[in-house]
Amino acid sequence: MGKKNILQEKVLVLNKYYQAIQITTVQKAICHLVKGTAKVITTNWTTHTLDEWIKITKFFENENGRVIRSPSISILVPDAIYLPYYESLPKIDVVFSRQNLLLRDKYRCQYCGKHLKNPKDRTIDHVIPKSRGGKTVWTNVVLCCKKCNLKKGDRTPEEAGLKLLKTPKAPKWQALILEEFPKHKKDIWKVFLDFAGLFE
Ligand SMILES: [Zn+2]
Repeated sequence: MGKKNILQEKVLVLNKYYQAIQITTVQKAICHLVKGTAKVITTNWTTHTLDEWIKITKFFENENGRVIRSPSISILVPDAIYLPYYESLPKIDVVFSRQNLLLRDKYRCQYCGKHLKNPKDRTIDHVIPKSRGGKTVWTNVVLCCKKCNLKKGDRTPEEAGLKLLKTPKAPKWQALILEEFPKHKKDIWKVFLDFAGLFE
């Protein structure tokens, strides 16, 4: 693997509460380390400043392709960085999309709870029907099996004798990380994402 590719590899970013907030590139992660705004975090939850990490890198010198070398320093590619001064979660409005709806509702009919493995069984239900002015927004749309959708028809859940498993809300930002980066997701991140409740 060439040096250029390594710099574009993905690095998980954790805020000061160890919440996964973003996925960045090795290149940007190193910039943070150089500026001192980030530390490298390893899967045993220890954090290392750039200087400490450079020392650790010496033990991995032979790991071909995992060490970035410049004339002055060598750095082992980090899998995750920790931002000790960054508190916030990203202010991201999760885009309303079918894929994000599936993630929010965990592929289950929000009335009967059936796991909808087969895309053909999935429908999208407007809790307050469109015909009654119900909007296509996170709080009025749920994943629904065909059977429940047919039963509900053009009625509210109360009228149809159906009960929502939970009140629909805009999904949390975490869903976005899972949705946007499944291709890049590294096994090694699981420990950090487990902590954030993403694999519950
Ligand atoms: Zn159902």
